[in-house]
Amino acid sequence: MKITMAHGSGGKSSAELMKSVFGKYFSNDVLDQMEDAAVLDIAGRIAFSTDSFVVTPITFKGGDIGKLAVCGTVNDLLMMGAEPLYLTSAYILEEGLEIDRLDAIAASMADTAASAGVKIVAGDTKVVEGNGGLMINTTGIGLIPEGRNISAANLKKGDAILVSGYLGDHHACILSARMNLTNHIQSDCAVLKPIVDALFSHDIRVKAMRDVTRGGLGTMLNELANTSQCSIEIEEERLPVRDEVRGFCDVLGLDPLYMGNEGKMLAVVDGADAEKALETMRGTDLGKDAVILGYVQEGKGVTMRTRLGGKRVVDMLYGEGLPRIC
Ligand code: MG
Repeated sequence: MKITMAHGSGGKSSAELMKSVFGKYFSNDVLDQMEDAAVLDIAGRIAFSTDSFVVTPITFKGGDIGKLAVCGTVNDLLMMGAEPLYLTSAYILEEGLEIDRLDAIAASMADTAASAGVKIVAGDTKVVEGNGGLMINTTGIGLIPEGRNISAANLKKGDAILVSGYLGDHHACILSARMNLTNHIQSDCAVLKPIVDALFSHDIRVKAMRDVTRGGLGTMLNELANTSQCSIEIEEERLPVRDEVRGFCDVLGLDPLYMGNEGKMLAVVDGADAEKALETMRGTDLGKDAVILGYVQEGKGVTMRTRLGGKRVVDMLYGEGLPRIC
């Protein structure tokens, strides 16, 4: 069975689709009220973020657009030190989409939300003309525990910059699929909560965090340095890149510094906590390949000490070759 315009009519076909697909996976005390809006009791500082997911293909090695739509928004909340609580999910379906595919994506979305401890409390579905594709928007709310202040403006000379694992996996996986290349590269799509929880429960003085998504590490580091009016120096030989991804980048002339991920994060921590933060990250499954990349310095911009002992300026990414990786 395929999606038709009737499924977006708001009538009987819509109701059937809601019941047979979304109702099967998305059920909780708030959503099940079926009111016009979710009513939530939240007291305190909240983090609030939204993101739209247009990746093609909609399923890929290591994930699918449903999983990605939860990871992307939940990770942005986590990066502000928030405990993610609630998500909305809006689906835009293209006519011709196989309902079985939609079913698998909704199941994957529900699984990922459950593993992240978030409830999907509101949603919407629209159908548009097209070629059987699918896009999802998620918006999320998280509560920031009292006394926690995580911000790109917090960097000070001597702070350490850590990255939680291998760079470029998601980008290389999607690009491979788009180019019909056969390899073993998998998306790293994941909810970063275990790493963030570990850092806070070990009392690491975390200054700032960023998930290393579109734009890549080089862009994230520049954003941090600009916001805090400082410079960052990293070591090329410490950049974690899998051999297969490095080979892939070499062949295509891509730079892993600008490749997007969906399950990697940067953490800036007080320099005195650098080793403890590294150990803590490495103690989690997701962060087992973490490294200390470099340190915050006085000055401006981002530089990288190369393997040959030179220095290279790391700029922000300008333009993008591949728009639909997330
Ligand atoms: Mg982000």
